[in-house]
Amino acid sequence: MKKIAVFPGSFDPVTIGHIDIINRGLPLFDKMIIGIGVNSQKKYLFPLEKRISWLQKIFEFEPKIEVQSYTGLTVNFCETHLARYILRGIRSSGDFEFERAVSQTNRVLSRNIETIFILANPSLASVSSSIVRDVIMNGGDPSPFIPEEIENLVQRK
Ligand code: ADP
Repeated sequence: MKKIAVFPGSFDPVTIGHIDIINRGLPLFDKMIIGIGVNSQKKYLFPLEKRISWLQKIFEFEPKIEVQSYTGLTVNFCETHLARYILRGIRSSGDFEFERAVSQTNRVLSRNIETIFILANPSLASVSSSIVRDVIMNGGDPSPFIPEEIENLVQRK
């Protein structure tokens, strides 16, 4: 049976922290779906189409990766795509507490899905989409925090 993982997130915008977790998680699975969760209550800085196309560009030469958006529960998205694993990154004890609750809830909702955690690279543990958004909105240069492939695209927003 193929090992399929979903790496869910908002990726608003994708950062070098996300890329590190994806690259480190990839050898564990046969296929990884980067799932961009769409929550109608949430306001995003970047439109969904841009977030999808940036991730597709970054991983255009990685056949194991697919980029898709979804609404609703992550476990339902996983089941639709026969993914038995959810990949998440942990930067801090705050992340851990939050992720523990989400993962344990997901286990109740779907006994077949296991969440796999990868600890952030210490040099990237302070990188977050929300701080990058703040930098962008205040006219700063986000390029140290985002993948090279999309630097120009994000700055041109
Ligand atoms: P969400 O809105 O679900 O938190 P994000 O796009 O912010 O989505 O993050 C998706 C995943 O990437 C989460 O598991 C998050 O903890 C992880 N992540 C984000 N930034 C980093 C980082 N710098 N290092 C490691 N993991 C990270």
